[in-house]
Amino acid sequence: MSIPERIRGFLWLSIQDKLLTNVIRFKSHLTCNTSCSICVAPSESLLHIFRDCPSICTLWSHLLRIHISPDFFLLPLGMWLVRGLRSNSICELTAGPWNMMFATLLWLSWKRRNAFVFSGIKEDSSTLLHHSKHWAHLYNDSSSSRPHLSPFVCWEPPPSDWVYLTIDGVVSQVSGRDSIGGIFHDSMSSFLSWYFKKVDFVDAPQAELWAILVGVRISWNLDFDYVLIQSDSVEAITLLSHPHQYSPHVIIHSIRSSLLSLTEYAFTHICCEVNVGADFLSKYDAPHDGSLLTFSAPPPGLSPILDRDISGAPTSVLGDLNVMV
Ligand SMILES: [Zn+2]
Repeated sequence: MSIPERIRGFLWLSIQDKLLTNVIRFKSHLTCNTSCSICVAPSESLLHIFRDCPSICTLWSHLLRIHISPDFFLLPLGMWLVRGLRSNSICELTAGPWNMMFATLLWLSWKRRNAFVFSGIKEDSSTLLHHSKHWAHLYNDSSSSRPHLSPFVCWEPPPSDWVYLTIDGVVSQVSGRDSIGGIFHDSMSSFLSWYFKKVDFVDAPQAELWAILVGVRISWNLDFDYVLIQSDSVEAITLLSHPHQYSPHVIIHSIRSSLLSLTEYAFTHICCEVNVGADFLSKYDAPHDGSLLTFSAPPPGLSPILDRDISGAPTSVLGDLNVMV
């Protein structure tokens, strides 16, 4: 089953029953209230959130017209999850495998629960079903083609020991004087560093590639070992997405050899709507002497733009072109 890593991790925690439901929080003395925040049933277990809460069980009944088994509402958590995640029967709503829809619905039901508990945001069952169908469609598409659709445009924090490098390049059709820029963030989306450089006479993909090359080299200098590189250029990422494929571009070879200095890396495409921060930096007004400028503090005006990037509204985009080494 081809699903984003964050959902894979979520499912693993679910099978271990490690997610912080109110029942688990009670056992850990984090709360004195075990009840469901949505329906006020006395015990908010994971199975209650996923299956038994009235806010979702009617949805399962609707979905399961062709997938129903007599013991669906009787199985314990582990068996119930394993059965759903192993099912490859076709989901009539998505025309894809049932386990994809199943996993997506679990993920979004958990997110819905957290949105309600922590932000008071309510989402009804029909909206949950609609979103689940939408994302399951995208996961189905992503498993059958590359470059593929990623369900997330928001700036999701990387795993705790990874750093985000978000890059951009700007090409001036008039002056021929172009620029590149990039921003480093840690796993908590906290600003780490940024850089800027003027370059001459490149096209748009080349500007992106230059931004990546410079960013990778700075990553090495700053001892960032695990780096997620984000670009809004499908072309640039596609050129780098096959590390062993021959390329006539010298800069591709330079990037590939520089990437060897990192312990692990990955490329992800993001849409330009949430790459405004890097775009802002790549247009930084600086003398054109070709020198590389690096900064450990954000320039005035960047912080609100980054906030917007990080909390950008979800839409579908091309993405998740992973090149792991
Ligand atoms: Zn409930």
